[in-house]
Amino acid sequence: MPPGRRSRWLKRVMTVSVLASWVAWLLIPAVDVETVCISGPVLLLLGVTIIFLARVQNIWALALGVAQIGICLLFFGLVIALQWGPGRAEKPFAWMGLIYLLVMAFPMIMALSTGGKSGPTAWHCTQCGYFLFGITQPRCPECGTGVEQQVFEQIKYAFELVRKQQNAGKSATRS
Ligand SMILES: [Zn+2]
Repeated sequence: MPPGRRSRWLKRVMTVSVLASWVAWLLIPAVDVETVCISGPVLLLLGVTIIFLARVQNIWALALGVAQIGICLLFFGLVIALQWGPGRAEKPFAWMGLIYLLVMAFPMIMALSTGGKSGPTAWHCTQCGYFLFGITQPRCPECGTGVEQQVFEQIKYAFELVRKQQNAGKSATRS
C-alpha cells in the first residue's frame, strides 16, 4: 500500500475506533454490559488494524492501538479470572471504560490531529511521515518526495554531530 494511502486509512480507522470506543462505553449502561461481547472483539480488531497501519514513528497511533487491545484483553481477562457474571461486571466495566476514555483522550486527539505523526515534524516527510534523520539526498527514501533544502541541511548537520560523537565514544573506549 502506498504510504499516502496508508496514512489516510490510518486516520479513518483511528476515527472509527475512537467513536466505537465511546459507543461501546455508552452501550454498557444504555443497553447491557453483555454488549461488550460484540464491541470488545470489534475494538480489538480495530486496535490490531491501527497497529498494522501505523508506522514505527507514529507513536500516538501505536499507543492508541496497543491501549485499545489492552483494555479489551483486560476486560476478557477479568471475566475469565474472576468469573464475573453480567451483573457483577457492569459497574467496574463502566468505570474502567470511562477512565480508559479519559486517559486515552489526549493520545486520541494527538493521533487524530497529527495523523499519527509525532516528534519534530520538520524532520519527517511531509507526504508519508517517514523519519528523515540520516538521509544523504534531499528527498524521502520512502516515497521520493523532495525535502526542503533548509530542512535537509539541518538533518545533515545533526546527523554529522551524532556520528562524530559516536566515533569519539568509540575511540575513547579503545584507548
Ligand atoms: Zn515520504
